[in-house]
Amino acid sequence: MYKSGFVAICGRPNVGKSTLMNLLSGTEKSIVTEIAGTTRDIVEDTVNVGGITLRLADTAGVRETEDVVESIGVDRAVKRLQNAELVLAVFDGSRELNDADRRLIELCKDKKAIGIVNKTDLEENCLNGEIEENFSQTVFISAKTGKGKEELTKAVEELL
Ligand code: GDP
Ligand code: MG
Repeated sequence: MYKSGFVAICGRPNVGKSTLMNLLSGTEKSIVTEIAGTTRDIVEDTVNVGGITLRLADTAGVRETEDVVESIGVDRAVKRLQNAELVLAVFDGSRELNDADRRLIELCKDKKAIGIVNKTDLEENCLNGEIEENFSQTVFISAKTGKGKEELTKAVEELL
């Protein structure tokens, strides 16, 4: 079912997955709010990144949750990650990594994946190289301003 070009955007709630999805698709397809748990189901779009057609999937943030609907979304996100040809693993560069981030790093171990450090437009920078150590490719972006989109495009082209 998942053909070549299937890309899953994964990460804990609020790191900016949906903002990245919208940046790459050039639409406001995914709902973006400051509320964690906004994206509960998978939002898909076909986009062109550096001449490659990708079937992008924006997923629910992977975290422990009591909310039934959200937890189904999280299970779907994990399945989509496992089936994807490429994972865009998004982290919030303005916050320290937590258990959910480390779970994502684990899930990406045997996958083709790009570590994406988002929110580089903010003053706070809490990262210490842990992402670079765990991903063959790491890119620093601001999904909000579009900074780093070129580097991300190059990384996708290299991996696919
Ligand atoms: P998701 O839960 O991972 O899908 O995150 P969203 O895309 O919904 O974004 C969560 C919040 O972070 C929203 O308030 C966004 O406006 C904000 N955000 C996303 N990307 C960036 C970024 O690059 N810089 C800054 N400063 N804020 C961002
Ligand atoms: Mg979202």
